[in-house]
Amino acid sequence: DAKREGKHQYRLFNDAMRDQLVQRMRIEEDLRSALELEQFELHLQPLVSFTARQVMGYEALIRWRHPQQGLLYPDAFIGVAEQSGLIREIGYRVIREACRLLRDEQALLGDGCMIAVNLSPAQFSDPELLSRIEATVLEHGIGRGRLELEITESVLMRDLDEAIGILNRVQALGIGIAIDDFGTGYSSLAYVKRLPINKLKIDRSFIQTLSWDRSDQMIVEAIIAMAHKLELEVVAEGVEDEDQYHRLEAYRCDIAQGYWMSRPQSLESLVGVPQKIAGMLQGRGAAS
Ligand code: C2E
Ligand code: MG
Ligand code: MG
Ligand code: MG
Repeated sequence: DAKREGKHQYRLFNDAMRDQLVQRMRIEEDLRSALELEQFELHLQPLVSFTARQVMGYEALIRWRHPQQGLLYPDAFIGVAEQSGLIREIGYRVIREACRLLRDEQALLGDGCMIAVNLSPAQFSDPELLSRIEATVLEHGIGRGRLELEITESVLMRDLDEAIGILNRVQALGIGIAIDDFGTGYSSLAYVKRLPINKLKIDRSFIQTLSWDRSDQMIVEAIIAMAHKLELEVVAEGVEDEDQYHRLEAYRCDIAQGYWMSRPQSLESLVGVPQKIAGMLQGRGAAS
C-alpha cells in the first residue's frame, strides 16, 4: 500500500544518499594518499600566438594517475578536492611543478614560454596563498611574466575589493592573471575594467558555434575589440578547426588554445609538438 511504498522510497533515498556520501569519502581518502604518493601529474596544452604563429606558452591541466582507475580528469575529483579543502595542498603542488618545468624544461617548452595554472575559489581565499606562491617563485627563479594564474569570475563574486587587493599583490610578484571561461559568469566588460588582470579567455561555448552563429561571431569580435581597448590580451579556448582559427585571426584575437593545434600532452608526448605546430601554421594549408 501507499504507506509501505512511501517508506520504501524513503529508504531508497537514504541508501542513495549514503552511497553518495561513502563515494565522496572514498575519493577524499584516495586524494590524501594520492598527495602522499605523488599520483598527480600535469599535462600541458599549447597556447599559440596568432601573430608569431608559434607556441608562446601552455596551460597546465591536472591529471590523477589512479592506481586502479587509470588516468582521471579534473571533473572526476576537483569538486571533492574543493569541498574537502585538499585543493589547497594539491594546488601548491601544481604551482610548484609548473615552476619546476619553467626552470628545467626550457628546451622542451621553447624559450621564453609561460605556463598558466588554474586556481579555484578555495585556493584564492587561502590566507597563505601569496606567501607560498612568492616563496615558490623565488626558489625557482621564475622571471616576470613566465607564470600566470587563471581564475574564474566566481572567485571574484565574494568580495571584489579584497579580490582586487590580492590580484594586485600577485601582479607585483610578476605573475599574470587571466579570467578563465569569460562570458559564462556575471562579469561585464565594465566590471572587468576595475580588475588588475592581463588576459581574458573567451569560453569554449562561444568558439564552438563561431562558424555559423552570427550573434556569437559578433559577441566574440566585440569582446576582442573591447578587451584590446582595456589593454587586455585575449585567448580563445576550444579552437577545434581551421575555420574557427581563421575567423579568430580576422578578429585580431591574440592567442588560440584548442584541439586543432594540440590536445593537452604529458611531458613525454610534448616532444616535437611546438615544432609541429609552427610548421602547421607557417606552411601552406594546415595539417589536421
Ligand atoms: P579550464 O581551465 O577551462 O581548462 C580547459 C579545458 O578545456 C581542459 O579540460 C582542456 O582539456 C579542455 N579543452 C582544451 N581545448 C579543447 C578543445 O578544443 N575542445 C574541447 N572540447 N575541450 C578542450 P580538462 O583538462 O578536463 O580540465 C577541466 C577543468 O578542470 C579546467 O577547465 C579547470 O577549471 C579545472 N582544472 C584543471 N587543472 C586544474 C588545476 O590544476 N587546479 C584547479 N583548481 N583546477 C584545474
Ligand atoms: Mg583554465
Ligand atoms: Mg577555461
Ligand atoms: Mg573551461
